[in-house]
Amino acid sequence: MATIHIDDSKPFPYFPAEPNNKRETFADFCKRQAAELNLVSDEMEQEKREQAEMQELMKKSNERKKALFYDNLDLILRHRDEIRGTPRYANIDAHYLVRGGGLYLGPLSMTRRYNFAGTLVNINLKLSTLLEVWDNAQFKVECSCGGTAVIRSFAGSPLSGCSQATAICPCCKKEIRVRNRSFGGYYGLLRIMIDRDIEKVARNIVAQWTHAEVNYGKKVAEGNDAKWNKAGSELHGDGEFCNLETMINELKMKEFKAQCEAEKM
Ligand SMILES: [Zn+2]
Repeated sequence: MATIHIDDSKPFPYFPAEPNNKRETFADFCKRQAAELNLVSDEMEQEKREQAEMQELMKKSNERKKALFYDNLDLILRHRDEIRGTPRYANIDAHYLVRGGGLYLGPLSMTRRYNFAGTLVNINLKLSTLLEVWDNAQFKVECSCGGTAVIRSFAGSPLSGCSQATAICPCCKKEIRVRNRSFGGYYGLLRIMIDRDIEKVARNIVAQWTHAEVNYGKKVAEGNDAKWNKAGSELHGDGEFCNLETMINELKMKEFKAQCEAEKM
């Protein structure tokens, strides 16, 4: 005959000590209910809903921008050197223009969000970086029309190294399927490039702050009141910001003017 042994030396049910363990005793639960206090308040829910709505709007906006970008890919690639050489163009957010990821790794995030002293900062893949990525043979495909298409999405496995990707041709706008190029070639290069963009932004902030402190020091040395002025008012950003829509319009205007000039001659 089998004997059933019950070990009652441990509390039942046994809950492991988790950092986020929000289980409360029945007595605490009754007290909280009496005080009409919810673990998640209505205001917290409202905030969550509003954030989700804003995310949804942002997603729609990014989809529109992505369509605009790829519709004008030929224009953008014609001006690639100018874009790289013009900081207000080079630093345009490009995180929604390329997608990639792998089995076990999940999607490769082209944007990273940080909380610095309660201030949320997003650092995104930059347009100049995406153009640089497309300079690599791994990210280029010959199109049947004679144009050179660029990879805009990929997926694969780091174990087998197999991959599938899609490229878009700037000339005929056709989407091309690309198979079995090195998965690491896509994932590794893009990841390194995003890390480089993060370093660029972080170094820029550090440099701007160093500059602000030096300027502040100078003002104090000149006898300005240090009580009512602090280094914070000497901190400045990079100057003029440019969005994708403005850049495309400016590039179109430039080509139009050049065409008018050529017709005059
Ligand atoms: Zn083509």
